Amino acid sequence: MYEKSNKDNISIKAPAKINLGLDVTGRRENGYHDVRMIMQSIDLCDNVEIRKTESGLTMDLVTEGVDRAFLTADKDNLCYKAAEAMMKKYAIEGGIHLKLIKRIPVAAGMAGGSTDAAAVIIGINRLFSIGASEQELMDLGVTLGADIPFCIMKGTALSEGIGEILTPVAPLPECRILIGKPECGVSTKEVYEALDALMDEGKAHHPDIDAILRGLQSGDLYETASCFGNILQDVTVPKHPEIEKIKDIMKEHGAVNAMMSGSGPTVFGIFDDDNKLSEALRALKESGLAKDVIETKVYEEKNDR
Ligand code: ATP
Repeated sequence: MYEKSNKDNISIKAPAKINLGLDVTGRRENGYHDVRMIMQSIDLCDNVEIRKTESGLTMDLVTEGVDRAFLTADKDNLCYKAAEAMMKKYAIEGGIHLKLIKRIPVAAGMAGGSTDAAAVIIGINRLFSIGASEQELMDLGVTLGADIPFCIMKGTALSEGIGEILTPVAPLPECRILIGKPECGVSTKEVYEALDALMDEGKAHHPDIDAILRGLQSGDLYETASCFGNILQDVTVPKHPEIEKIKDIMKEHGAVNAMMSGSGPTVFGIFDDDNKLSEALRALKESGLAKDVIETKVYEEKNDR
């Protein structure tokens, strides 16, 4: 499964995710939350190139269409942290240079940092012929971020616990996906803190995750999409009303459904028709409500670990 090669470098795709469903079922004493989420990898990808060097750990960052303002190519980058953790755990001799090509909007609810870290973990495992199992890589990943195990596994999965208990499920049936991300960024930590207050008051709306799972199992796009739900919308949408407006534009132009992903503010719309998607894309650009408007689809490659 893992490449044995003398190559000095490797390039790994790092796909973003959207949440078809996101529920929070509890809060742990350490501040982590228990979740029930349905994660779906999408075809919007960063790229991570990993090169063997003489010594040390260095990093370059290239941005393609995303704001560089919140990103640095140093120890604060999740890629760097993931490489450091791999080098330490597997006592890697020599050094590593990372090059991150960033296309996924930052602080957007699409697990951009987590998927980059996952790509580094997968890439180092292959480049240095470490031979760690996927589970071992996921165990290391979860120490750096709750979404990293899913980003290592990819595809479509029910995610429980703090995000580390993953069950593969049937993929979202064939469709086109439109991403609209408003100008604002959102802090995942702050959103979860605000949700705690709402849940204490009994004011949060819990989505029916099992209904989405039944929809996926039946392979029916319309049934699945009609059940989409995200408890974090209760926090993020009132603070950023443009999210609801972006959803409305997508639905007015024929989206099967549209919803906020993760802690937001990204909205994704599901379309069963290319023309409807093109119309929604045009209307969204004209509205000026979304800074990033991206057309994509479900991520299908699974053989790049
Ligand atoms: P999630 O959906 O997992 O909550 P997100 O998509 O909302 O994540 P990220 O894009 O991962 O958010 O960014 C969250 C923060 O992490 C940013 O403020 C950014 O400064 C920091 N960060 C560190 N490394 C990266 C990276 N490689 N890509 C994106 N953000 C990173």
